Amino acid sequence: MQINSKLPNVGTTIFTVMSALAREHNAINLSQGFPDFDCSPKLMELANKYIRSGFNQYAPMPGTQALRERIAEILSTCYGASYHPETEITVTAGATQAIYTALAAFVGSGDEVIVFEPAYDCYVPAIELQGGKAVYSQLNAPEFAINWADVRSKITSRTKAIIINSPHNPSGTTLSQADIAELERLVAGTNILVISDEVYEHMVFDGQSHQSVAMSKTLAAQSILVSSFGKTVHTTGWKIGYVAAPKEIMVEFRKVHQFLVFVVNHPLQLALADFLADKDNYLQLKNFYQQKRDLFLRLTQSSKLKPLKTAGTYFQLMSYSAISNENDSELAVRLTKEKKLATIPLSVFYSQKTDNKLLRFCFAKKDETIEKAAEIICAL
Ligand code: GLN
Repeated sequence: MQINSKLPNVGTTIFTVMSALAREHNAINLSQGFPDFDCSPKLMELANKYIRSGFNQYAPMPGTQALRERIAEILSTCYGASYHPETEITVTAGATQAIYTALAAFVGSGDEVIVFEPAYDCYVPAIELQGGKAVYSQLNAPEFAINWADVRSKITSRTKAIIINSPHNPSGTTLSQADIAELERLVAGTNILVISDEVYEHMVFDGQSHQSVAMSKTLAAQSILVSSFGKTVHTTGWKIGYVAAPKEIMVEFRKVHQFLVFVVNHPLQLALADFLADKDNYLQLKNFYQQKRDLFLRLTQSSKLKPLKTAGTYFQLMSYSAISNENDSELAVRLTKEKKLATIPLSVFYSQKTDNKLLRFCFAKKDETIEKAAEIICAL
């Protein structure tokens, strides 16, 4: 059989590659973004409770009522937004499925989608599988700020959507109020859909607050907000996320959702709905991760690697130009094998594999893991 690949240039995602390499070489894994500590015992108990009490068949297609109501409450608490649980919120199998579904529902052959580079790796293949085309706008190191004039120049009659991601993976930067206002002006009066990847929404540091598309009524009216409980309650393995969007957009989203996954894990949705009744379980997350970021920065202060500013997410970029001219991918592999420390090279987030001599470190780790990693970094 001759196979004509639909994604001829796509290999295995870097997160899988680096985590496997870390395991193989028994290296500390600061590469793939996931915590090396467990979720709350209370959340585990709730999951157990719902599994034992018989919630083991299909959930309602858009998600359980209890979790959709809880999501509406979170969006109202954090952003003063009003999304109707019945028609404007859908529970998804993580943010990856949410983003894929949004693109499948709205992007067709020849459509263009504006993507900011460096870009999280699931966006572009999902666009291309719909026959769409990614149109790139660069976020230049070290600020990684959006150049709105450039974005404006890239809008054409074929622009169907724009994907934003704040707090931003991999750079750890966040969009400002002014950026949101720019975006609002940009799409006003157009049919451009905003897909807003806000999976790190509860991890914004230094007294700043997350700027969500949900905070602007006009922007929210043409946006799909995407988030993930994996990040918020330390359960990346549960793969549960959600989207919030106006009813007319959600009708189209659900048409695809029902045939892509139909429904999401039932008992875990119920557990999440109960657990998040305590608002501290999401409102305190920024303090928890700011302490981790600050610990990582303090312990690596004497290193030759220089940190860039991290305003959100659980990632820290570091420049290694003072210690090596190596290409970032080669260095990441070598550090894993020889120094027993795995990271993510930034170039993998660029279509042209741009090498800025930057590595991404995930600090969603136990303090002792951060301490061990810092020792290695300081010795480089
Ligand atoms: N989002 C995580 C990261 O950036 C990894 C998720 C995944 O492995 N797909 O590291």
